[in-house]
Amino acid sequence: MAAPRSVRRAVLVVLLALVLPVLTVPAQAQTPSAHRDPGNGAERSAAAATAVPARALVAAEDENRRGGGRQGYPRQTELRVFPEEPADKAVKLGLLPYHAIAPKLNELQQRSDRVSAEVIGQSTLGRDLYLVTVTAPETAAQARQQDRWRELIENDPRAAARDRALAAGYKAPVWINANIHGDEWEGTDGAMRVIEDLATTTDPAEVRLLKSTRIYFTVTNNPDGRVAGTRANAAGFDVNRDHITSTQPESRAVRDVVIGTQPLVMLDEHGYTGTTLIEPGTPPHGQNYEYDLYLKHAYENALGMEKAIAGLGHPETARADIPFRDFPPGEWDDWPPIFTPMYAIYHGAVGHTVEVPLRVNRTEYDELPVEELRRRSGINTDVAASTITAGIAYAEANRRELIADQIEVFRRGWAGEPQREIPDGYVPGFGEEDRYSVEFPRAYVIPAGDAQRSAPAAARLVDHLIANDVRVTRALHPFRLAGTMYPAGSYVVDMHQPKRGLANVILAEGKDISADVPRMYDISGWSLGLLWGATVDVSREQAPKVRTTPAAAASPTGGVDAPGGRDLALTVADGKDVQAVNFLAGQGVAVHRQDDGTVVVPASARRQAEAAAERFGVRFTRAPSGERGPVLGRPVIAAAVSADELFVLRELGFDVRPVSTRALNEGFDLTAVDALFVSAGLSYAQLTGEARQRLAVFLADGGVVTRGATGATFNAEAALLPVTAVRGRSDANGVVSVSNGEGVVGTGSPGHAFVYSPLWFTGLGSGVVAEQRYAEDGPLVAGHWLPGPAELGPAQAAGEASVVSGVAGAGARTVLFGTEPLFRGHPKGLYAQVARALYWTAVG
Ligand SMILES: [Zn+2]
Repeated sequence: MAAPRSVRRAVLVVLLALVLPVLTVPAQAQTPSAHRDPGNGAERSAAAATAVPARALVAAEDENRRGGGRQGYPRQTELRVFPEEPADKAVKLGLLPYHAIAPKLNELQQRSDRVSAEVIGQSTLGRDLYLVTVTAPETAAQARQQDRWRELIENDPRAAARDRALAAGYKAPVWINANIHGDEWEGTDGAMRVIEDLATTTDPAEVRLLKSTRIYFTVTNNPDGRVAGTRANAAGFDVNRDHITSTQPESRAVRDVVIGTQPLVMLDEHGYTGTTLIEPGTPPHGQNYEYDLYLKHAYENALGMEKAIAGLGHPETARADIPFRDFPPGEWDDWPPIFTPMYAIYHGAVGHTVEVPLRVNRTEYDELPVEELRRRSGINTDVAASTITAGIAYAEANRRELIADQIEVFRRGWAGEPQREIPDGYVPGFGEEDRYSVEFPRAYVIPAGDAQRSAPAAARLVDHLIANDVRVTRALHPFRLAGTMYPAGSYVVDMHQPKRGLANVILAEGKDISADVPRMYDISGWSLGLLWGATVDVSREQAPKVRTTPAAAASPTGGVDAPGGRDLALTVADGKDVQAVNFLAGQGVAVHRQDDGTVVVPASARRQAEAAAERFGVRFTRAPSGERGPVLGRPVIAAAVSADELFVLRELGFDVRPVSTRALNEGFDLTAVDALFVSAGLSYAQLTGEARQRLAVFLADGGVVTRGATGATFNAEAALLPVTAVRGRSDANGVVSVSNGEGVVGTGSPGHAFVYSPLWFTGLGSGVVAEQRYAEDGPLVAGHWLPGPAELGPAQAAGEASVVSGVAGAGARTVLFGTEPLFRGHPKGLYAQVARALYWTAVG
């Protein structure tokens, strides 16, 4: 084992007078959208994450006490009450603090047999997430009948369409999601007002309404953000960008609500856009929707909500912005499935984002007088409550047609029918610019055996599809499809299934929509088929002719394929492999790193390797005889990174210590650090002389990995690798095609990567290796990437290096990423690139 880095470093005297020809070309200017609210795209590189989320909260009682009569309604739970938090940011606005929600719901459950509250999960910090159901009481038998009808609609829509009892008796499910952005509070208060009204009303029409509807409320989807006054959750994730990725407990909880309740209509209550904003959105429209069945209801429902807010009588609510009707294309699109309402559409809902009008967060929260804030919050709460009430009224008034149309969505899926061509003027303003469609393939195959580049990645993808209610089967025999032989055990996603739109939006490569609109609201490409690390084959026309069995979960993939007494090898091809390596190294196993990036585990650690194989689903093989290579150790990473990157690095099992310009200037200790990861909130230029000196000592043999413009600037200012970083448009993003070199990072990487604010490297100085390049023939596969004013678009990036490595003059092994391998915890197939970079730089 090599001497500890700290020891070697301590005796080094380093001169850093060397100035290499390093440059960074500045980003091009671009016009921001008038309506765009910062998510966590390019903005996330501004400040380094410091959050250390811990489930530290302890409620007054350990467990919720479950009420009796679980099968019927009400199914009441006495919710545990959380300690009072006077600093809860809702207090200043005169809104409900989180700790007051459970007592209020407990009280309403006492007063009314129409209200049921349940706990559907916990936030990042451990606060309960509530689902409140409001409906007329049901016996257990009646509730079972509702369940059967709901399942019939999805599983046998033709039978459901003929079922008159269903048409007459199925209670329209409506789902209201509130406060997914923690500092957009009033959806919660509006929801609570509607719950109380419906719980206590004696109005015969409202009492009747509850006999034909079930209304579900997730009253706050982001309690940690609500209390702290932050948009993101406590892990720094924007929960309303996390659908189909599902890294966060808050998004997983509502994913399970939408699958379990199968709403006809759903509203996601947000703020603050000046004017109340109500979807449907602008083009590009998600191309996998049955958009005709969505739009006719979404448009009418939006008009109904607009009328309701106008009826409030506030001058500020006289009208709404309906993006479909009022905004230019690209201003407020429904393209990616990452938003709650868009995700819900794939489960058969008519989903709407609603934005209440008057800003009360950020600067306004700090600077406006309390009376003005409360005046605004009062109006916003009125808007939230009235849109919810109007949405429920729409569902009741159109119950039979909404049910029939949800049945039709699922029927088309099962039947494999094409989407419908929608005529001009279908709703006012519908035209050519609104037409988005796909030809669904006949099947996807996720191969088993040698055709699969990563078995653990395949298992992860299969489990993820199943968690999203996509039907997956497993082949019982080998079969041939489109000229390829697949072994038994391969997974098949037959696209004749009710949620084919969701299956396709997850697996398909997507589309380059750069030419369609001038800008996009958020990401425009995401393909899990290309980015999650598994081989996924598509069969356009042919269904596999093979007996299959439904898969309830992926089969176990872990194992040790080597005789006892032999050293074991593991290829670091996936994040699961990385977890296994860090797990073993963390247990003190001597994990050796070979030149090609493969790791070798001594035969003596076979038992630990078997445990790792079982836990992470990885496969060890017999190691070649010869040198084992240097011992890796579990690298200690000092990370100036965005919150999502911090989350992933920790998930991968690295020992990560957040750092920033400020932390370094305040004396952050680098002596125990193996590699420095720079992508956010670390500026070399702003370091003190003393901090630079400590950094120089570190750079003499510590490794550096950077990502994006912040990282490239650090590289230039610290005079590491002699390259020129060129920046594409900052909002450009999507899935790109890449060619991999034979370096330590490129070898074995997938042929696709993800970019956001793409970067590339030119003028590679001597010793700099192009690990990966953007494809020569136009890198963008799916997404939105326009050239900026300086014409730096995908055509200019083509063939240029997207990832480079080298040894800096000062001694530091360095890897620079121009791609986004950890973005929002999404491109899971790219994690191993970062890990290989960290292992290589850390072993220095
Ligand atoms: Zn929002």
